[in-house]
This record gives sequence, C-alpha cells and structure tokens, in this order.
Amino acid sequence: MVFDAPDHRDHEQVTHFTDEETGLEAIISIHDTTLGPSLGGTRILDYDTEEEALTDVLRLSRAMTYKAAAADLHLGGGKAVIIGDPEEIKTDALMRAYGRAVDCLDGRYITSVDVNSGVKDMELIESQTDHVVGTSDGLGDPSPITAHGVLHGLKACVEHVYGTDTLSDIDVAVQGLGKVGHGLAVGLAERGASVTVTDINEDKMAEFTAEYDAEAVAPDDIYDVDCDVFAPCAFGGAINDDTLPRLTCDIVAGAANNILADEERHSEMLKDEGILYAPDYVINAGGLITVYHEHQGGTEEQAFEDAKAIGDRLQTMIERAEDEDITVLDAADAYAEERIGNQDRTTPARSW
Ligand code: NAD
Repeated sequence: MVFDAPDHRDHEQVTHFTDEETGLEAIISIHDTTLGPSLGGTRILDYDTEEEALTDVLRLSRAMTYKAAAADLHLGGGKAVIIGDPEEIKTDALMRAYGRAVDCLDGRYITSVDVNSGVKDMELIESQTDHVVGTSDGLGDPSPITAHGVLHGLKACVEHVYGTDTLSDIDVAVQGLGKVGHGLAVGLAERGASVTVTDINEDKMAEFTAEYDAEAVAPDDIYDVDCDVFAPCAFGGAINDDTLPRLTCDIVAGAANNILADEERHSEMLKDEGILYAPDYVINAGGLITVYHEHQGGTEEQAFEDAKAIGDRLQTMIERAEDEDITVLDAADAYAEERIGNQDRTTPARSW
C-alpha cells in the first residue's frame, strides 16, 4: 500500500505502528533528514480510511521538509498521524505507547503538537522519549513568534512593492483575530498601518476596535476591502476561485496554512493579477523556528530574532521570482530544494 501510494515519492521512511493493548494505530512519515532530524506534529484524526491517513501524513511530512529548509533550519521534515476519534481513543496509555513508537526511531523523528494533540499529550510522550517538543517546560505558545515573523515578512513585501520601509501609509485587511492574527494586527496598528479586521467572533472584533483605531467588517466582506495587503490568518483555502477575483490588494501575506485552495493554479493567477503572494510556509515559519530553538535548548529571544529574518529570506525569494519570471512560491521551493541539494548526501544521516 505504501509503495503504491501516489504521494509516496522521495520519503525516507514510513512506519506503521500498532499497539493491541491500547488500540494505537499510527503512521510516522520521515520525508527527508538531509538537513537534520525530521520534525513535525502528531495529528489525531478519525480518517475514513487508512489510505486517507497515509496520503495526509505523506503530504504533510514533505511540506515540513520544505518549511524547515526555507527557514534555514537544521531540520528535516516529518509528520505523524494517530488514526481514530480523539474523543474515543485518546488515553494516557495510548499516548505513552505512541511515545515508545517515537522513541524507537531513535531521534530521526521529533514530534510536537498538532490538530487534536496538545501539551498534555506531549508530556505523556515525553515520559517515554526525549524526542518531543511542545511540553510545558519548553518555550510555550509559539503564536507571538509566528505573528512577529509574519509582520516582518509582510514588511518585506511592502518594501518591495511600494519601496518604503514604513507601514504608516499602508492599509491592511486582517482575516481572523486569533492567536496569530491578533498579534499581527496589534503589530500593524502600533506601526501606524490602517487596519481593517474581521472574525466570526464578534467579541474579538469589538475588543480590538475598542483598543485600536481600526475598522471592522463582516467575515465575508473582508475580500472586498479596498486595501494594500490582505492578511489571511484564519483558515486554509481563503484564496480560491470565488475570492481571488474580489481582491483589490497588491500583496497577500498572512499566517494561515494552505492559504491557496489550489497552490499551483492560484499562485499563477495571483502573479497574473500583479498581486505579490508571500508563500504561507515561508512567512508563517515562526512556530517551527520556536520549536527548533526549544529542541536546541535555545531561548525565546533567539527564536524572535530568527523569525525576524523571515523578511530577508522572503526578499531574496521575491527578487529571484522577478528575475526568473516565476511565482514566489516556485522561488521558495527552489530555495528549499537547493539548500537540501547542496548538502553532502554522503555524510552519514546521523551526523546531526
Ligand atoms: P486561532 O484558532 O487562534 O485563530 C483563528 C481565528 O480565526 C479565530 O479567532 C477564529 O474565530 C477566526 N475565524 C475562523 N473562521 C473565520 C472566518 N470565516 N472569518 C474570519 N475569522 C474566522 O488560530 P491561530 O493559531 O491564530 O492560527 C491561524 C492560522 O495560522 C491557522 O491556519 C494556523 O494553521 C496558522 N498557523 C498558526 C501558527 C501558530 O503559531 N499559531 C503557526 C503557523 C501557522
């Protein structure tokens, strides 16, 4: 099944774990460890079929390789799924059994939080293995560092498009005032940008507009806001066939994962419209940067500093995209692939 899976391409190792006593069924996919140990969260989901779980873990682990490489980290890409309804299957014993599964990979895979897995789960895993981050003795919620990285990425886009390093004349529409979107909107408002916000949670909008000089619009109206930058920070697929034609902005730069419903097609369409798209996996890497520093025993200050550098990296990618007349997404992929390709693959994989 694994070898035939359409998404099984260049993955180094895909391991299926079961534990009869606790009912654990998990797949850990290590996509690439050229740059360092693979790192990626453990997602607990009630997939309809094993094939669906396999497809998800193969795609997500590959995406982690690109994300780590494009963030200049010494990390590879991995991901794990535990199959089942978290409400029904998640027990302390099952998480400990899963921790032993992670441990037997001997550090080639480091796990962290993801959909339906949290800090408490990481601590149960930690009772069985050292190869886990995101516990309560770590660097804590990475969202402020993610927001900091998005802000600096957005600034790099503004500098490129408008030739200014200030945000004071810039109109930004922020979709989602969650952990990252709120931090980004605050950072923008504090730097003098005109901010328009939306959220399905009206209290969040009211709180924000009470504290900052900002406009609020209904969730679906955010795509029609006359603005310079659209910052999707709520959910995946915000840019799709219906919403893209409504945009009047020059830049799309936000925190959400999988912003484009169809990566290839919509990144080309944005380019054709003259809209600069900051690839999501480049601009939202602050969370990964945080857990990387946690794993290395680093500090929050180092993580903030590294997240700031997202702006410079994005600038390099934007310039390459212009020079080669390709999308910024293609330039980002090329940057990541070159980092991996430039490593001496004859170096033993465990040298990290
Ligand atoms: P969050 O759940 O804290 O915030 C999401 C916000 O979006 C909530 O306030 C929610 O009410 C709002 N929302 C939901 N549907 C909406 C809609 N239709 N219109 C407007 N608002 C809507 O999540 P978060 O941690 O801030 O993450 C936001 C996005 O960034 C997600 O896609 C996440 O995967 C991605 N991301 C987050 C991090 C991180 O460090 N937290 C890192 C990388 C990527």
